Amino acid sequence: MAAAGTYEQNLATAAELMPKFGAAPLLHLIGGKKVASASGATFTNNSPIDGRVLGEVASGASEDIDAAAAAAKEAFATWSVTPGAERKRILHRVADLIEERALEIAIVESIDTGQPIRFMAAAAVRGAANFRFFADLAPSANDGVSLPTEDHINYTMRQPIGPIGVITPWNTPFMLSTWKIAPALASGCTVVQKPAEWSPLSAALLADIALEAGLPPGVLNVVHGLGETAGKTLTEHTDIAAIAFVGESSTGTAIQIQGAPTLKRVHFELGGKNPVIVFDDADLERALDAVIFMIYSLNGERCTSSSRLLVQRSIRDDFEARIEQRIAAITVGDPLDPATEIGPIIHPRQCAKVRSYVDIAKQDGAKVVVGGGGDVDPDSQYVNPMMFAQAENNMRVAQEEIFGPVLTVIPFDDEADAVAKANDIEYGLAGYLWTSDTGRAHRVARDLEAGMIWVNSQNVRHLPAPFGGVKRSGIGRDGGDYSFGFYMETKNIAVAYGDHIIPKLGNHD
Ligand code: NAD
Repeated sequence: MAAAGTYEQNLATAAELMPKFGAAPLLHLIGGKKVASASGATFTNNSPIDGRVLGEVASGASEDIDAAAAAAKEAFATWSVTPGAERKRILHRVADLIEERALEIAIVESIDTGQPIRFMAAAAVRGAANFRFFADLAPSANDGVSLPTEDHINYTMRQPIGPIGVITPWNTPFMLSTWKIAPALASGCTVVQKPAEWSPLSAALLADIALEAGLPPGVLNVVHGLGETAGKTLTEHTDIAAIAFVGESSTGTAIQIQGAPTLKRVHFELGGKNPVIVFDDADLERALDAVIFMIYSLNGERCTSSSRLLVQRSIRDDFEARIEQRIAAITVGDPLDPATEIGPIIHPRQCAKVRSYVDIAKQDGAKVVVGGGGDVDPDSQYVNPMMFAQAENNMRVAQEEIFGPVLTVIPFDDEADAVAKANDIEYGLAGYLWTSDTGRAHRVARDLEAGMIWVNSQNVRHLPAPFGGVKRSGIGRDGGDYSFGFYMETKNIAVAYGDHIIPKLGNHD
């Protein structure tokens, strides 16, 4: 794991790394070359730490997406038939370089997103693990099955679908980009990525690494820009076969509409308001640790955060009191300080959104508990961890994805009530449950409407396992072979043994 340095070391490394992003606009990567936008347009990128300008970024539009899609189409002709062993070799090289530069990636990511270095160090290494995992699967990606009948042998093979548009969000951009790009490249697809405009820097680092690793020109293209321009054009492009998107549910709806005329295949990882259910028979110490970790880590800007705590009414007051005590001691501060547990919120707009829920909670009758050991400057992008206690499931704070360090606590009476409340929501990404009753654990896991359930655990990922949501949380699954199901087409080939009956038309003898 890339251990984060001391605060002083991280500040010193940042002072070395960051000037290059301010010296010249961050460029697109198209066809193996770093290029400005055809129009010359740029947008400004600021750090959430103190609003300082990190630099200008090329702002792509339709001409740039056209060029990137053309490059990806051209490269697809060779990359799609490059032997799996060779794809494996190159993707392992990408992983090696990510590992070598993991601390640099983590520091740049922390400064660009506000995510604490303690989590970004691990996220950078996880990016390398994503590449290694899918690299190892590349040689078998085309494999199919044999389905013989008496007179035919049917067999299948998988072939890469074509150039993929990858559109990523700002919350943990590097890790999430690798989670999409690695399986796409391992399957033989080429990629045009449109990174989030609020956190573009780590995508540029991955582009550099891909070039250095020897990924052929055009196999990975990166076009920076805004969602409504560069992103929209990418989803509409005739040369792009499919869109792998991670972001808000409402953006997913827009992309489905934009992609409909070209019949885009879509893979969506969308929003969540994930329940964590704590029964009174649970190991409450471990449950407390997991509840707190899963909402206050990564600034609460985490699609699988357990933002909705459903706690059995008999232990509600005690459990709320324990949370209050713990969040009082959560450290809010500079994300480059390894002691920091919550950093600044990505953008003034997102920060204002998070803060707006304080009034909404009060109006609805929830009790607002503020942690973090003191005030933060209301003009900054720092917010203290919060708990909306004594809430009810129909309140806005219980139903809407806030995407910040904010936990809403809702009581339930019994198992049926817990399941009903957990499912009474438009989202269905993840669910967590804590109980010592094995039968109940299986029953509730079966009945929860979510793509992923963790029992007596926080979000611990196993890369071959399927990842994805139901309802408004997503379409499709990632992970292991599930990813290839999206990035590849399955072809069936039926070959006659030679002696089966062929119906004769026009032959009346
Ligand atoms: P967002 O939907 O605002 O933006 C995501 C990306 O889509 C950005 O690159 C943006 O530029 C682009 N975009 C915006 N409008 C577009 C359009 N019309 N056409 C094409 N592209 C467009 O999401 P965000 O605010 O960056 O990220 C936070 C959201 O992501 C949260 O809802 C979170 O739950 C979700 N998320 C989900 C997962 C998951 O695995 N389910 C993981 C991480 C984040």
